[in-house]
Amino acid sequence: MHYAIDPMTKLCVPIMVDSAEQALADANAAQAAGADLVELRLDRFTDDRDAAANLINDCPLPTIVTIRPEWEGGDYDGDDAQRIAFIEYLGTTCTGPAYFDIELATYDRSANLRQKVMLVVDHEDQPRPTDTGLILSSHDFNRRPPDLYRRIKAMTDFGSCRVVKLAWYARSLRDNLEAFEIIRDRHKPTIALCMGELGLMSRVLAKKFGALLTFAAIDDDHGTAPGQPTIAELKTLYRWDHLNADTQLFGVIGDPVGHSMSPAIHNAGFTAIDYNGVYLPMRIAPEYEPFKATVASFLDDRPLDFRGASVTIPHKHNLLRFVEEMNGEIEPLAEMIGAANTLTVRDDVSLYASITDYAAALDSVCDAMSIQREKLKDKRVAVLGAGGAARAVVAGFTAFGSVVTIYNRTLDKANALANTFNAQSAELADIQSADFDILINCTPIGMHPNIDATPYKFTPNPEPRTPNPTVVFDTIYNPVETKLLREAKAAGCVTVSGIEMFVRQAAAQFTLWTGQPAPIDRFREVVTARLDA
Ligand code: NAP
Repeated sequence: MHYAIDPMTKLCVPIMVDSAEQALADANAAQAAGADLVELRLDRFTDDRDAAANLINDCPLPTIVTIRPEWEGGDYDGDDAQRIAFIEYLGTTCTGPAYFDIELATYDRSANLRQKVMLVVDHEDQPRPTDTGLILSSHDFNRRPPDLYRRIKAMTDFGSCRVVKLAWYARSLRDNLEAFEIIRDRHKPTIALCMGELGLMSRVLAKKFGALLTFAAIDDDHGTAPGQPTIAELKTLYRWDHLNADTQLFGVIGDPVGHSMSPAIHNAGFTAIDYNGVYLPMRIAPEYEPFKATVASFLDDRPLDFRGASVTIPHKHNLLRFVEEMNGEIEPLAEMIGAANTLTVRDDVSLYASITDYAAALDSVCDAMSIQREKLKDKRVAVLGAGGAARAVVAGFTAFGSVVTIYNRTLDKANALANTFNAQSAELADIQSADFDILINCTPIGMHPNIDATPYKFTPNPEPRTPNPTVVFDTIYNPVETKLLREAKAAGCVTVSGIEMFVRQAAAQFTLWTGQPAPIDRFREVVTARLDA
C-alpha cells in the first residue's frame, strides 16, 4: 500500500546530559549503534552555557536541543525566561543544532518568548540565515489529550514551526492507530508517538507511516520516556532497517505478552527469508470486548496492513468467537478443541482461525520416533495435566487413534477433557503404576524456577509388567532439558523437549502467513539463545 511518506524516518537517541563528557560518550555510542541524530536533553545542564554550546558543536551527529520543564515531564525546574534566554544564547553561539524543541504550551503562552525563539530558528521572516528548525511539542504522560487536534492545528498554524511533535500515554493499542492517522494526514513533518508498553507499535511503525523520527534509548537505563525501546531492540529485534510503507504487521495477542519469545522468533524468520513483515507484542486486556474492539480496528485500518497474530492466554477462545462473528473460516479441530492460537488475515481481508500446537505436538513425537502420524494408532499415551496444552495434545493424539489417558491433579477436569475427546482419565498419582508407550507432561511441574521437580519417577530396573515408556515428551521449554527429560534419557527413553513443540507451532503460523517454509533451525537458535541469556 503506497501513500506519500518521507522515506527517511530517522532514529534519534535521547541523551539526558549531566556532563559534557558523558553526553559526548553517549552520542558516540549512539552513532556507532546506527542512530541518525541525538536529542540533547539539557534539562539538568543549564549552568554552563559555554560547555553546552561546545557540546552541541562537538557532537558527532545532528542534534535536537531540548530543555524540558518539569511541568511537561522534564527535569528543568527554573523559569521560562531563563530557559529561553539559554536557548537564544545557544542558537546564536553554536554552529547550529538541527532543531530546538519547545513545548507548544510555552510557545503559545507568550509573544515575548516566541519572539526570542524566532531569533534563532529558521522561518520566512528570519533575516539571519540559519538551518535550525523549530519542533513544537506536546506531551501527556497520562492519556490522550482531549484537545489533541486543537494542539496539532495550533502547532501547524505557527509559520515558524517546522515539525509537529505529539506524545501521549497509550491506554490501549488503538491509540497507536490515531498516531498513524495523524502522521498520514500531516501538513508538516510530524512525530506522533504513544508512550508506555502499549505504545511500542507507534515507535516501531513510525517508519512505515513516514514520521520524521522515532526515539530509541542507548540501553535499558537511558530511556527518557516510558516504553522507549533500545536502539538494539529497534534495529535487531524489530527490523528497523527493513521497514517501509509496504511492511505487513503481525503480532502476539495475549495478556501478558511482555516476555513472549514469539517476536524474536518471527522477526528473525522474516529476516531469514527476506519477508517484508514485522511482528510485535500486542497486549489486549482480558475479556472479549477489548479483544473484539482492538482486532476489528486493526482490520478496518487498511494502511496498517495487519496480516495475522499468534493468540495466547486469555484470548484463545475469544479468537474463535470473533472469527465466527466475522463470518471467517475456522479450522475444524480448533472448533472441536474450543480454542485457536492463530489468526490469519487473507489478502481479501477474510479471516482464518486455526490451531497450530496440536500438530506441533504430534510432529515433535513422530519425528523423534521416526514414524508417520498414522503409526500413532493404538499407541498408549499418558498425558499429565488437563489444561490448555493438554487439550491440544489430547485432541491431536486421539484424532490419530492413540489410546489416551489423562492424569490430573483435579480429577473433574481430567474427566471433562476425557469426555470431549473419547479418552480415559485418572488421578495424577495413578501415573506411577500405569503402563504406557508415550508420556507427555502438560503440567508446569519442573518448569523454571522449580527445576528440581518432576511429575514422574522412572523405575530403575523395570519389570516387563510395568516397563518405562518408550518416548517422554515434556512440553516445558524452560529449561530445555527438564529433570523429567534427564531422568528419562538415563532410563533409556527417547526424549522430546518442549522447544520442539514451541518452534513447530510457530513455524506453522509463519507458513500460514508468509506462504513459505519457516527457517525452523533459525527458530531453534533464537529460542535457545534467549533461554541461555
Ligand atoms: P494450564 O492451562 O494452566 O494447565 C496446567 C495444568 O497443570 C492443569 O491441569 C493443572 O492441574 C496442572 N498443574 C499445575 N500445577 C500443578 C502442580 N503443582 N501439580 C500438579 N498439577 C499441576 O497451563 P497450560 O497452558 O496447559 O501449560 C502447561 C504447561 O505446558 C506449561 O508448563 C507450559 O510451559 C507448557 N506449554 C508448552 C507449549 C509449547 O509450545 N512447548 C505450549 C503451551 C504450554 P489442575 O487442573 O489441577 O489445576
